Amino acid sequence: MKPVAPPTPDTQEWFDLIDQQRLTVPRCRSCASFFLYPRSSCPRCGAREIELVPAAGTGTLLSFVINHRGPAGFDAPYALGMIELAEGPRVLTGIVTDDIDALAVGDSVRAVFEERGERRVLNFAPDEEGTR
Ligand SMILES: [Zn+2]
Repeated sequence: MKPVAPPTPDTQEWFDLIDQQRLTVPRCRSCASFFLYPRSSCPRCGAREIELVPAAGTGTLLSFVINHRGPAGFDAPYALGMIELAEGPRVLTGIVTDDIDALAVGDSVRAVFEERGERRVLNFAPDEEGTR
């Protein structure tokens, strides 16, 4: 089976919500900055009052790579991409598509959740309604 990232104390709540297929983005209650990855203090102002805000689940494909060989459990070819979420933060994630050759920088994408054992993993897929 593909690996699953082990949560840390700072990321446990965020990963628990991913397991429920709910994407959230941490936001600082002091300066209102959004950020990812989840952490216990704001990377902009240092405040420790952080809330997890429901995300739109949409974003833009900023860059990607197609891997033609992968570690055990990964079916090549598969794509990894840098997504800029609608809320602003960027996330490196798997890109799920049946037409890997059609991926293009600037594509609109939406969050999808891959089942891995007891857990879910955040991926993104092309958003057919929002692309071009
Ligand atoms: Zn802040």
